[in-house]
Amino acid sequence: MLVETFIRKQLGLKAHTVTKVEQTAEFMIIHIDRLGDRLLRCGLCRQRCREVHSVRKEREWRDLSMRNLPLKLRYRPRRVQCPRCGVRVEDFPWAEPWARVTTSLANAVARLARELSWQGTARQYGLNWKSVATIVQRAVQYGLKNRARPAVHVIGMDEVSRRKGQVYLTVVYDLARRVLLWVGEDRTEEAVKKFFTEEMGRRRCQTLRVVCMDMWAPYVNLVREHARNAQILFDRFHIVKHLNEAVDQVRRDEMRRLTKKEKVIFKRSRWLLLKNPWNLNGDQKERLSTLVRWNTPIVRAFYLKEVFQLFWEYKQPARAKALLEKWMSSAMRSRLEPFKKFVRMLRSHLDGILPWTKLRLSNGAVEGMNNKIKSISHRSFGFRSAKHFIAAIYHCCARLPLPVER
Ligand SMILES: [Zn+2]
Repeated sequence: MLVETFIRKQLGLKAHTVTKVEQTAEFMIIHIDRLGDRLLRCGLCRQRCREVHSVRKEREWRDLSMRNLPLKLRYRPRRVQCPRCGVRVEDFPWAEPWARVTTSLANAVARLARELSWQGTARQYGLNWKSVATIVQRAVQYGLKNRARPAVHVIGMDEVSRRKGQVYLTVVYDLARRVLLWVGEDRTEEAVKKFFTEEMGRRRCQTLRVVCMDMWAPYVNLVREHARNAQILFDRFHIVKHLNEAVDQVRRDEMRRLTKKEKVIFKRSRWLLLKNPWNLNGDQKERLSTLVRWNTPIVRAFYLKEVFQLFWEYKQPARAKALLEKWMSSAMRSRLEPFKKFVRMLRSHLDGILPWTKLRLSNGAVEGMNNKIKSISHRSFGFRSAKHFIAAIYHCCARLPLPVER
């Protein structure tokens, strides 16, 4: 079989043909021409058109490599007279209308960019970073337009920081399908509103049953306004994070108060108190029990933390509620300011905390995806623009379909 025939079949050409294959030091150049008077399709609506209006100047498309030689397709596009759209550039079976690379190459690049940084992907295919960025952005655009959008019942809202806790993005997951639904710049009410109004729309919002999130007022307000049927559930892991912060604050306040000698004993006690007791070894248990005998604020904080954790285990709402009430009043009497603050926060959010016992849902289901987002940012040394970071997050976490190769 001639190499021309081989390539024509590989590209799936029907109204076009390969006239010549030329090899240079760096490329294999495939010359393409129209095949006889076969009908060409309109680039906009893909309808077959009888009339060719004109022939344009030669264009070039990068394709995958054959062995180590990258292929380049060269062709003079026709403009067709489409009965529906008027005079339009024809449809290319090997590429999207806007693209300077073939769909096969674009999809190969897009697939690799899910695993590697954009720099790394560019290097693999001998492209520059900008080309990869364009390919991924186009793939995301296509994917968002063509993705499956089943009804959503349970979502998790969370924030991720870009550039170490300075710039925030809001991410929304479908907790049932464990897939990313939306990413938006910032975490303000104004910014995240777009999720409800643009991404979901009024009708889809009505099927929302549970929204899992941190105790963050803008998110709460948005759910109350746009998804009235949804139960707000404050995420277990966020609550525990606030609790751990209270323990840590007590420890730091205490350290400031202690003498130098006492400090030595408390040194590195922080993680002893934060760790689950059953994960400690003999020596660590020993050190912990010394701390416990002292009955200092740190120890009181530690015990409060341990008792609080029982809340998650209860199966009966009334009992869980009773435990929490009891816990909150003992924490208020603990003379630990950070814990009083924590209790005040719980009190004003109880209607989103107590439903845990019945719902048992948390953003833990998508924790892996949050880590993935961190690693995406890390492997690219932090994206300079939010636009690119958002595209990369969609690309890796939203399970978007890629353009079909014809
Ligand atoms: Zn048309």
